[in-house]
Amino acid sequence: MLSFWEKNSFIDHDYIIIGSGLMGLHIAYELIEKEPNAKVIVLERGVFPSGASTKNAGFACFGSLTEILSDFTLNGVEKTLETIKERYEGIELLCQRLGKNNVGYEANGGYELIFEKDLHSLDKLEEVNKSLFPIFQQDVFELVNEKIEQFGFDPDIVKALIYNRFEGQIDSGKMMQSFLKLVSSKGVQILTGCEVLAIHETDSRAIAEVTHNVLKERLCFSAKKIFVCTNALLNMLYKEEIVKPGRGQIFVTKPIPNLPFKGVFHFDEGFYYFRNYEDRVIFGGGRNLDFIKEESQEFEYNEMVLENLKAILTEVILPHVHVEIELQWTGIMGFTMDKNPIIKKQSDKVIVAMSCNGMGVALTGISAKKALLLLD
Ligand SMILES: Cc1cc2nc3c(=O)[nH]c(=O)nc-3n(C[C@H](O)[C@H](O)[C@H](O)COP(=O)(O)OP(=O)(O)OC[C@H]3O[C@@H](n4cnc5c(N)ncnc54)[C@H](O)[C@@H]3O)c2cc1C
Repeated sequence: MLSFWEKNSFIDHDYIIIGSGLMGLHIAYELIEKEPNAKVIVLERGVFPSGASTKNAGFACFGSLTEILSDFTLNGVEKTLETIKERYEGIELLCQRLGKNNVGYEANGGYELIFEKDLHSLDKLEEVNKSLFPIFQQDVFELVNEKIEQFGFDPDIVKALIYNRFEGQIDSGKMMQSFLKLVSSKGVQILTGCEVLAIHETDSRAIAEVTHNVLKERLCFSAKKIFVCTNALLNMLYKEEIVKPGRGQIFVTKPIPNLPFKGVFHFDEGFYYFRNYEDRVIFGGGRNLDFIKEESQEFEYNEMVLENLKAILTEVILPHVHVEIELQWTGIMGFTMDKNPIIKKQSDKVIVAMSCNGMGVALTGISAKKALLLLD
């Protein structure tokens, strides 16, 4: 049973945010900026944020050439360019909000490895540069094939290399720690171990139900509005299928002396990605090898995908280097059919903000701003 004090001070709020990933924290920040005296609480099911925001690869990117070309086909040129602009502005917003040092930002640039099957995309490089010019005021993509051997890649497989000076990399752990500290310092309360099991509404309040882990009884947190920022787990709260989960397999190597490259790297429309973290390599992706099994919200390994990643690492990326894997993990992304974010009023008192289709480091900041506009 709750005490009089607990009932008086812990239960009622102005705003409840469900999920303490990047989206939830950006929304918390925006709310406090807008209403400095508002009582804002974040309810997180994990002991700390436990979604994609702490499991990703830390790319500060907005799309490689092959991915952009695929998005042109899916969403049209105009919509794709709008999204690219928002991703780029979102990265700037994140760095500005937290400070580049606090997110471990490094401007090492990005590269796309082109294999035989994607060589035809090079014919479109100039055209895509022209389309992106109004956003970046410079050419974004440039061929740097001379670096293929310098970086130690297998030149029989990597047929071309495209450089993108505007991409960078972050330390996702450092970033999330900084963000938690920032919003806490502004008076936002973050409760962990609070899985919201249901949302419902009265005439005047929105209610988030949680089981109290000590009392073993249902708690009903209440607020004027609830923001649902549970990303891939959105469907657990609603019967309709709003998003599809997409699991990412990922690993980090032990330090590699004299690692020949720095930066973020992608190939195959962004389905594969690797980067340096100091002198290690973080490598993930391959979801497209087993779409059905990887449409999962369970943190399990897919040995077939991991074996494929390891083979590419040792045969194509670092063919002449002894590599040992230090740690592997999985993370769950949330996907929509058209790869566009969902920012919508689920009801009068509930707003759903789910961005990110594997690009949330970049996009959550701008999506959070859009979610706040739904308050008015
Ligand atoms: C392997 C991987 C690699 C990625 N690489 C990149 C990249 O390089 N660049 C990039 O831009 N993006 C990348 N992303 C995507 C990016 O990380 C996400 O788009 C972004 O972090 C989403 O933030 P979010 O706050 O919406 O969701 P999440 O970070 O998933 O946060 C949702 C939170 O809600 C909590 N939650 C869920 N259900 C409940 C509930 N019922 N009650 C309470 N809490 C709940 C979860 O525990 C979680 O903490 C990657 C993602 C993965 C998985």
